Amino acid sequence: MARPGNRIIQAKLVLLGDMGTGKTSLVLRFVKGQFFDHQEPTIGAAFFTQILSLAEATVKFDIWDTAGQERYHSLAPMYYRGAAAAVVVYDISSIDTFVRAKRWVQELQRQGNPNMIMALVANKLDLDSKREVQNEEGEQFAQENGMFFMETSAKTAENINELFYEIAKRLARAY
Ligand code: GDP
Ligand code: MG
Repeated sequence: MARPGNRIIQAKLVLLGDMGTGKTSLVLRFVKGQFFDHQEPTIGAAFFTQILSLAEATVKFDIWDTAGQERYHSLAPMYYRGAAAAVVVYDISSIDTFVRAKRWVQELQRQGNPNMIMALVANKLDLDSKREVQNEEGEQFAQENGMFFMETSAKTAENINELFYEIAKRLARAY
C-alpha cells in the first residue's frame, strides 16, 4: 500500500513473444502466485493489475497479456499504445522463439513509445537440460538493444518477482 507522501506511478506493461513461451504463465505467477502445466493458450483474462511498493514509489502495474493474437506474429498498435514497459519473452529450450524474440523487439522499436523500459526474458530456466539458447546470447542481444535481461522460470518462480521489481525500479527512476 502507498505510504503517505509516496509517489504513485501507474504503468501499462505489455508482454510480447511467441505463443507458448510462457507469457501468461509469467503474469499468473507474478499476480496470483500460481502455475499451470497445461496453461490454456488463448483463454484467460487479458488484463491484470498488481501493485509493488518500493521505498521511492508505489508502482501500479496494468498488465496487458495477449489473447493468442501473437500466433499471427503481429499485434495491434493499440496493444502497445501508452505502454511504459514491455517484456519480450522467449523460451530457452527453443532457438526459434529467440529468433522471433528479436523480431518482436524490432516491432516494439517501430511501434512503441521510445522511452519504454524494455526487458528481454529467457523463460523456462527449469528446462536447462534442453537449453538451446545460451545466457550470453540473450545478454548480448539485450545489451545491443538497450534492454535489461533476465532468465526466469514461471514454473519454479525463479526470478519472477525480481523481474517485476527491476521494472518497477526503472519506472520509478524514469517517471
Ligand atoms: P504463452 O502462450 O506465451 O502465454 O505461454 P503459456 O503461459 O500459455 O505457456 C505455454 C506452456 O509452457 C504451458 O504449458 C505452460 O505450462 C508452460 N510453461 C510456461 N512457463 C514455463 C516455465 O517456466 N517452465 C516450464 N517448464 N514450462 C512453462
Ligand atoms: Mg498466453
